Amino acid sequence: MHVRYSPLGQQYADPEPIFKELRELVASGDFTLGKPVSEFEAMFAKMLGVKHAIGVGSGTDACKIPLKALGLGPGDEVITCANTFWATVGAINEVGAKPVFVDCNDNFCINTDLIERAITPQTKAIMPVHLTGDAVDMEAVLKIAQKYNLPVVEDGCQSLLGEINGKKVGTFGIAAAFSMHPLKIINVWGDAGIIVTNDDAMAEHCKLLRNHGLKNRDEMILLGYNTRLDSTQAVVGKYIVPQTPWIVEQRAKNAQYLDAGLKNIPGVRIPERKPNIKHVYLLYILFVEQRDALLKYCIENGIEAKIHYPIPLYQQKALDYLGHQPGDFPVTDRHAKECITFPIDQHLSTQELDFIIETVRNFYLK
Ligand SMILES: *Cc1c(COP(=O)(O)O)cnc(C)c1O
Repeated sequence: MHVRYSPLGQQYADPEPIFKELRELVASGDFTLGKPVSEFEAMFAKMLGVKHAIGVGSGTDACKIPLKALGLGPGDEVITCANTFWATVGAINEVGAKPVFVDCNDNFCINTDLIERAITPQTKAIMPVHLTGDAVDMEAVLKIAQKYNLPVVEDGCQSLLGEINGKKVGTFGIAAAFSMHPLKIINVWGDAGIIVTNDDAMAEHCKLLRNHGLKNRDEMILLGYNTRLDSTQAVVGKYIVPQTPWIVEQRAKNAQYLDAGLKNIPGVRIPERKPNIKHVYLLYILFVEQRDALLKYCIENGIEAKIHYPIPLYQQKALDYLGHQPGDFPVTDRHAKECITFPIDQHLSTQELDFIIETVRNFYLK
């Protein structure tokens, strides 16, 4: 059996309804901030229960634009997690600020007990990342943010429709970023991102920043970027948004199925599943013994398992200037050695899930 990692071929097995609307769009020529963009934004805002959703060119830009709107620039520091994905620090870097790392917990999110000691007079924002589709302890983050009067911009790119005590991820901070890259919970046939906020001034500022700072066709009131969500991709977004609740439900069901099948295998440790958190499982990660050997065994047996991430972000060459040494973030380091990621998407069959369980069991019990 072959268990592929990416479900994209199945997700868009019947693209005819999308092609139909794309044909209409092409005939209209409404490519730049066209009607599908505002329609998609309205659908997305409704889904998250927020006042504003602003489509941009990528999830990275969805992280960057709110930071820029907050006035961050050179000399400023943004606190984030040492094990996050490139894009979070890319966004911080693009506004000229410096990422300041804090280690994570075994739920792959920032260890909130370590945030306060990372705060300096230069700290201007906190960017918690809801990594893997799990959720940051936002109550703790907001407490610290209030105490130090720091804005919080959530990186929700891996956690669309995740919840903490029934409240949606992305609705805790002043703004949040989501990605529609092909490997995210929903995707739009290429790069795209979306910012959500309940703050009217933040929304206005982000809209200006994504479109050259243009107030109207002829007046530029601040220096911005060109990072608009394309109308073509908004058409795909409109098609996929109504499926989102089903997608995350199915992923969670698959995760429960794998958890149940894998939990008693010696050598396998399942991350804690907190009852107050709705985990949306962008990634299904386990802690395992003999990780590299298991990875090789899975791949030889046809399962496209992966490692997120084999080299911790804070140890990447591009971040040498921060002066970190291996060992600075021990939990992140341990994850790089112990973690393995299995396919978990909505299109997996029970047979495929059973095959993953059986293969892992065979590896440890052979
Ligand atoms: C995917 C992702 C982003 C944004 O990435 P894009 O590829 O630019 O959409 C940001 N943060 C995290 C944690 C991500 O996983």
